[in-house]
Amino acid sequence: MKILSADDDLTSRLLLKANLLRWGHEVVSAEDGLSAWEHLVRDPEIRFAILDWMMPGADGIDLCTRLAHNELGRFVYTILLTGRAEKKDIVAGLESGAHDFLTKPFNPAELRSRVDVGRRILNYESELGQANQRLQVYATEMEQLAEARARQLVHSERLATLGTMSAGIAHEINNPASFISGNVQTLRRFWSVLQEQDTTEGNPDPERLSFIQEEVPRVLDGIQEGVSRISRIVKGLKSFSSRDTGEMQPCSLNEILENALMLAGHVLKNRMTVEKDLCPDMPLLEGNPQELEQVFVNLFVNAAQAVGKNRQGRLIVRSRANDKDLYTTVEDNGPGIPEELLTKIWDPFFTTKSVGEGTGLGLAISLGIIERHAGQILVDNRPEGGARFLLRLPAAERKVQDGRSDSDRG
Ligand code: ADP
Repeated sequence: MKILSADDDLTSRLLLKANLLRWGHEVVSAEDGLSAWEHLVRDPEIRFAILDWMMPGADGIDLCTRLAHNELGRFVYTILLTGRAEKKDIVAGLESGAHDFLTKPFNPAELRSRVDVGRRILNYESELGQANQRLQVYATEMEQLAEARARQLVHSERLATLGTMSAGIAHEINNPASFISGNVQTLRRFWSVLQEQDTTEGNPDPERLSFIQEEVPRVLDGIQEGVSRISRIVKGLKSFSSRDTGEMQPCSLNEILENALMLAGHVLKNRMTVEKDLCPDMPLLEGNPQELEQVFVNLFVNAAQAVGKNRQGRLIVRSRANDKDLYTTVEDNGPGIPEELLTKIWDPFFTTKSVGEGTGLGLAISLGIIERHAGQILVDNRPEGGARFLLRLPAAERKVQDGRSDSDRG
């Protein structure tokens, strides 16, 4: 070991050094407290110090206290050396942070065994340090794994919701596709009429021609509208099922609600009427539209499932805002949530639904998403029956024309 020996008494220093060298240690000597501290600071290999109590500059007690407060950022084992042998001195010395105590003149055999004890403790300390490092690496790996698993879970839940909605989505796409096809057939009929007229001798039939002229723009608009509807649905689906959850950005709560209603449309259809009461003049919010859509789709699908197939259900969606926050309520007239389950429903994997109908992850994931948006999601039952979810999301800082935000203005 490299041992620092600090003592202002030359004889004692030489004796100590001779003994330590004999036992195979390397020795760094200092004549006073200040140079002892300099050696400790400069040389990280010194992890053992034998310090005289009384020294000019800084005494042994001072040095032990500083080392005990980890001023060096590493562990140094210390033996305090002194001519004082009173019990109260020993107590004071150990209380300063010294690990051991030896009275002068020291007995070489005793010194040797005390140095050996110190060496054992230093070995334990470095083993502990290594184990701690391994534990840190393990903890970081576990954290990364948990994060990856959580991301995977969010994605799987999104795909599960998509599964619930797939029959409806197919229907949503089929509808415009069939009226596009109808309109294309109409155009074909018009086309063959026009070709017939080309080949017929004499004047074309002016009545038929003006009918076709009036109808064609309407038929084309119909096709255009159908194509836009399909591409809106596909766009919504693509973003909903994407693994890349995108960035936070200023977005419109009402647009998110409309999109979520569109995505959940077929699950809601035939089960419940949708009553929308969306405040037209809302501030933007800083958020991830795809994640927020997931929250609302989940609330809407839950409402539809709660209402069941045989009831005339109602889904009431309201949005409101003030300067600071945007509020949304999602209510239904289903059976509501039993009081004793109001806190449980947020637990991952808690579900009252049968396998295949529910994963129990929807609300747990929604809670995570809303908390990441620095918002809040609460639930209660309506007095007239049915569940009511209330969401608060903070408004984005409004950008003003000179590029500074409102809050910059104080
Ligand atoms: P899942 O829908 O897969 O069961 P969730 O986390 O979305 O998972 O919901 C957990 C539970 O909360 C549901 O199983 C249901 O018991 C209850 N729940 C959620 N929304 C409603 C609602 N609108 N009405 C009644 N119960 C609800």
